[in-house]
Amino acid sequence: MFSEKKIQEIRNQFPILKEKIYSYPLIYMDNAATTQKPVKVIQASQNYYSTMNSNIHRGLHYLSHKATLCVENVRNKIRKFIHARHSSEIIFTKGATESINLIASSMESFVKKGDEIIISCIEHHSNIVPWQILCKKKGAILKIISIYENGFLKLTDFEFFISEKTKIVSISHISNVLGIVNPVKYIIDKAHKYGALVLVDGAQVPSNLDLDVQDLNVDFYVFSAHKMYGPTGIGILYGKEKILEKLNPYQFGGEMIKNVSFDKTTYSDLPFKFEAGTPNIEGIIVWGAAIDFVKEIGISNIQYYKKELLIYAVKRLSSIDGIQLYGNSIDISVKSGIISFNLDELHCFDVGSILDRLGIAVRTGHLCAQPLMNFFKVSGMIRVSFSIYNTFQEINYLFESLLKAKKILLK
Ligand SMILES: *Cc1c(COP(=O)(O)O)cnc(C)c1O
Repeated sequence: MFSEKKIQEIRNQFPILKEKIYSYPLIYMDNAATTQKPVKVIQASQNYYSTMNSNIHRGLHYLSHKATLCVENVRNKIRKFIHARHSSEIIFTKGATESINLIASSMESFVKKGDEIIISCIEHHSNIVPWQILCKKKGAILKIISIYENGFLKLTDFEFFISEKTKIVSISHISNVLGIVNPVKYIIDKAHKYGALVLVDGAQVPSNLDLDVQDLNVDFYVFSAHKMYGPTGIGILYGKEKILEKLNPYQFGGEMIKNVSFDKTTYSDLPFKFEAGTPNIEGIIVWGAAIDFVKEIGISNIQYYKKELLIYAVKRLSSIDGIQLYGNSIDISVKSGIISFNLDELHCFDVGSILDRLGIAVRTGHLCAQPLMNFFKVSGMIRVSFSIYNTFQEINYLFESLLKAKKILLK
């Protein structure tokens, strides 16, 4: 395990952690929404604009060549990071949301009336709405896997739904509300037996699990840079080459074409077929620095430390009278560093505002998962989510602040 000194060293790399919030030290526990950025990442952004800003793949001048090389290097870095076979299987997008929209849109011509798409009730809105729209457009049917009270997926639902009619199964790897790691490998293997494709929403995964898309044998995998210490506005779609080749482009314009005339246009090869227009060049290059940061610390170290934080926090929080923790009655080995809860009958926004006033940043509300809120019959939850720079002392402070909030609100 990391020593306190090592964690302090890591904390020192995050300038924002020195900020004061209403004169209190910042305690940032909203990492499932986005993580803070280390100096290395912040500097990479400045370095990009100071030394190589230019458009890529087009002009053959020095700077353009340099930026193009850097972008393609990061593509390859990501390929290695997720153990993909080819760099051409890594498509840059705005993030997890755009990646899912890309697939839902590019799959359109393969989905017909009466076909079925399977998702689950714990999904983030971005893994619900694109499929809902696609089903509506094509007369296909959306099937929803339910969960048990403890937050585990009802695999019996999945087994009941999966059939030759299933075109795609789209499921999150780690729930952004419950932090539960779903058995995606099992789902992928089973879906393939029926000829269905599987998309895994891995937005909560990078730097939490060592990801191997080939071992998972997943067809599409999506995530964003900003939840792994990188910049916002950039993410990837991983797709198997053979499948991506068959799909239609998602947007049309520059960069994604081979030849354009008014009679006929031919498209570029992968990955450029799916990358119309000038991409987020800075975002891609800066993301490379975030991957270096994660690799330096080591995913297994991050995972281990966050688990220690989780175990400690669950222990402390569950001792609070009147607290309701969601999805925590399960084996801790299948949980990432996320805890969602409510306090007595208190409204999550009221609790969240008091925590905010004490310098603690948490997420409150429906957490982009309204169907899951409906399942637990609540309008919202309070979510704390950990990262490598959180500490046990911060958890103690959270605990005391929650007691304070209860005292103030339950007068
Ligand atoms: C954050 C998140 C998304 C959306 O990611 P964006 O970066 O906002 O596109 C999708 N699914 C899950 C599980 C998430 O946590």
